[in-house]
Amino acid sequence: MAVKKVVKFGHPALRTISDDITDFSNINQLVTDLFDTMYEFDGIGLAANQIAVTKRIFVVDISHTEECDSPMVFINGEIEEGDGSVIDSEGCLSLPDIRINVERFKTIKYTYLDENLDKHSREFSGLLSTVIQHENDHLNGKIITDFATPADLLKYDKALKLMKSENER
Ligand SMILES: [Zn+2]
Repeated sequence: MAVKKVVKFGHPALRTISDDITDFSNINQLVTDLFDTMYEFDGIGLAANQIAVTKRIFVVDISHTEECDSPMVFINGEIEEGDGSVIDSEGCLSLPDIRINVERFKTIKYTYLDENLDKHSREFSGLLSTVIQHENDHLNGKIITDFATPADLLKYDKALKLMKSENER
């Protein structure tokens, strides 16, 4: 069991474009750390740079829904195609108590390696599609405040400034 610290808004790791994983020797430990940390903080997805590891890997567990019955690992993933659009309110473990409406593709085709390093190219829709796009954004240094309206930024100004200052301490 290794629960890691989740870095918050203002931490440089969240703005880093993560590198593809080429050395898979410690992958099992990293996967375990990601799941342990995600479950500890009740998340449904967690990208490695949220625990300050700037590698292209994230985990997702939406097994509380009927869409998917097991946790999933996505390594070196890439959105191949996107179709349609949906807008939903999203939160993020790196931005506690903040909700932003984000427009996403409705369906995506995503290519990735799973925890056994088997390659998949699959279509995703529903919540899984949205979560994968959210986590994939993390790998590219993008976070939900990038989708914020001026009204959102005004509403969360104090909370964001506080998070930023806590990182600098
Ligand atoms: Zn997030």
